[in-house]
Amino acid sequence: MSFFESLTNLERIPFKELWKKYTKDDVMRALAKEKLDKEDLLALLSPAAGHHLEEMAQKAQRITRSHFGYAVQLFTPMYVADYCVNHCTYCSFSAIHDFPRKKLSLEEVEAEAAAIASSGLRHILLLTGESRKDSPVGYVKDCVKVLGKYFSSISIEVNPLSMEEYKELADAGVDGLTLFQEVYHQETYRKLHVKGPKRNFRARLDAPERGCQAGFRSVNIGALLGLYDWRQEAFMTAMHASYLQDRYPGCEISLSPPRFRPYLGSFNPESDVTDRALVQIILAYRLFLPRSGITLSTREPAELRDRLVHLGVTKMSAGVSTEVGGHTSDGGTPQFEISDSRSVPEIRDMLYGSGLQPVFKDWDILAESSVR
Ligand code: SF4
Repeated sequence: MSFFESLTNLERIPFKELWKKYTKDDVMRALAKEKLDKEDLLALLSPAAGHHLEEMAQKAQRITRSHFGYAVQLFTPMYVADYCVNHCTYCSFSAIHDFPRKKLSLEEVEAEAAAIASSGLRHILLLTGESRKDSPVGYVKDCVKVLGKYFSSISIEVNPLSMEEYKELADAGVDGLTLFQEVYHQETYRKLHVKGPKRNFRARLDAPERGCQAGFRSVNIGALLGLYDWRQEAFMTAMHASYLQDRYPGCEISLSPPRFRPYLGSFNPESDVTDRALVQIILAYRLFLPRSGITLSTREPAELRDRLVHLGVTKMSAGVSTEVGGHTSDGGTPQFEISDSRSVPEIRDMLYGSGLQPVFKDWDILAESSVR
């Protein structure tokens, strides 16, 4: 049994008719409960709940403060390679786009790491395009060894791997995995992933669970909002997170709500996710999953990020470049356009100014012998 079976059952829900059925009473009932179930989550994502964001926000804020205090963890992504064998219709790195590809040497990785670490950040997310040939596990492992000199927490966002491969990377010092399903609606998934191993929906869907089994301290999942009906996608993402949280209590499960951004190609998403929709999604995530981290990226504009950080967000990226080597050179082709280009000190000051506590380092990997 994996989340795939649950997802297949959940897909039978007649979402379109159901959204219309929820009323103010359903939303208020969900808001009054301590522990929410699937029905409550649906109510909170329904159009009816869209009229009660203020009530949802007040409760979400209380829950966030009681579980996470005022802390907001800062991190930045570091792109080390943009070679990719997949054709995803919404991404600059797609194999069909013709641009000079880049992969950092270990010396370049070190220079990039030193540049990022000089901003004070101690959490890093290592990213590659998806190519086993160009960014094999051995290369990721070598990069991790270099990053270990500069960062106390290293997460990866690479192609889905086997449990053994994840374990190998955990042993090398990786403690977190980010892996986005992109779109949970299976038919749309097939349509948008035209070519390459990423077409295998199931292999991707099961990867976060393999990460939990391999012993990562944190696993971060999400749907790229805009690729399909956002209410249904947010529902499936939260159900996936809940599935993982129930089975792997030792692993911190986090959710990201990234919205589609402009990129090298011209694909236009089907579903327009407004700012209000994004707020509703974040609030529903927080109310349904009080213990989950929620990550907000620089895809969102500065003004909106400054407001959302009070409503449930616990992790933020800062000082971001989505280009390979973008911290030490002009970089290459960005994976997508960011929206909030503020530096780490600017984000730090914004958080302090909002009464929040920026966290640059909240844990250290202990010596291998003492944890394994
Ligand atoms: S989304 Fe990932 S797998 Fe798809 S083209 Fe971009 S880098 Fe490659």
